[in-house]
Amino acid sequence: MENVVIIGTGCAGLTAALYTARANLNPLVLTGTMPGGLLTTTSTVENFPGWPEGINGYDLMAKLQQQAERFGARVQFGTFESIETLPQSFRLTVDGEPVETRTVIIATGASHRHLGIPSEAKLDKKGVTYCATCDGALPMFRNKPLVVVGGGDSACEEATYLTRFASQVFLVHRRDQLRASKIMAERLLKTPKITPVWDSVVAEILDVAQDKVTGVRLRNVKTGAEQTLECAGVFVAIGHAPNTSLFKGFIDLDENGYIVPRKGAATNVPGIFAAGDCVDHVYRQAITAAGMGCAAAIEAERYLAALT
Ligand code: NAP
Repeated sequence: MENVVIIGTGCAGLTAALYTARANLNPLVLTGTMPGGLLTTTSTVENFPGWPEGINGYDLMAKLQQQAERFGARVQFGTFESIETLPQSFRLTVDGEPVETRTVIIATGASHRHLGIPSEAKLDKKGVTYCATCDGALPMFRNKPLVVVGGGDSACEEATYLTRFASQVFLVHRRDQLRASKIMAERLLKTPKITPVWDSVVAEILDVAQDKVTGVRLRNVKTGAEQTLECAGVFVAIGHAPNTSLFKGFIDLDENGYIVPRKGAATNVPGIFAAGDCVDHVYRQAITAAGMGCAAAIEAERYLAALT
C-alpha cells in the first residue's frame, strides 16, 4: 500500500513529490504521457524566482525531478487510467495494473486547446502544431512565413521564438488587443518580423488536398471580410483545457472541467488532493503550480497523520 500517489510530473506534481518525499512518505509519482509537463515545451522561463538569467523549461523540470528523487520520490513512467474507493484508501489502475494508496495528489495539468475546425485535425503534424519550441526548427518551417493563433502570453512567446526561423510571423488574434502580460505584448509589438492580424479568426487551414499547410483563410470578425495568407505552418496557442476527464463523476469539476478545490488543496473526496493547472484557471503560472503542489503535499501529510 502506497502512502501517496502523485499523478503528474509538472511543477505541481514534482513539488508535491519533493515535499512528500522529505516527509518520509516515499511518494510514487506517475509521469503520464508528458513527463515534466507542459513547461518542458517552453523555451526560456524568465519568471521563476531564483533564476535571474532565466532557465530552459526542460532543464527546470529535470532539476526539480532530481531534487525530489534525492529525497526518495519514485518517478515512474505510467499512465493513470481509473480510480475507485476502498475503505480508507483508493485503488488506481495504472497501465492496466492496480496500485493501492492511502492518498492521491492529482496534478494532471492542462493540455493545449484546439481551434476545432476540420482542417486543423487533418493537417495536425503536417504543418499544424501546438509547440514552437518542439517544432519551430523543423526544416519545413525554416525561412517561410508562419502563422501563430492567439493573443495571450503563449502566443506572444511562440511568435517571438519563431522569428529565429521564419521569414515572417503573422500573429492572428480574434480581438484588437492582446491578453498577454505587458512585457510580453510590448516585446512582440516591437519585433519587426511579427505582423499582428487583428480581429481575425482562422476559418480554414489550407490545403487539405495537398496534405500540407500552404496558408490560412482568415475571417475578420467585425467586417466578415475574408483574406488568405500564405504560410508553411500554423502554431495554435489559444490556451489550455484541464486534464481531468478521467475524474469526471468522482471528483467535483466545474463547468470548464477544472477541479473544484475545498479548503485549499483538498477535493470533495477525503484523501484526494489536487494542485496546479488542473485546478487553477486564474493564475496558471509555474510558481503558483509549485506552491499548490507544496500545499497539497502538506495536506496529504496531515491527512495521513490523522489516519494513524
Ligand atoms: P490565455 O491567457 O488563456 O490566452 C488564450 C488566447 O487565445 C487569448 O488571447 C484568447 O482570446 C485566444 N483564444 C482562446 N480561444 C480561442 C479560439 N477558439 N479561437 C481564437 N482565439 C482563441 O492562454 P495562454 O496564453 O496559454 O496563457 C495561459 C497562462 O499561462 C496565462 O496565465 C499566462 O500568463 C501563462 N503563461 C505565461 C508565460 C510566461 O510568463 N512566460 C508563457 C506562457 C503562458 P481572447 O484574448 O479574446 O480571450
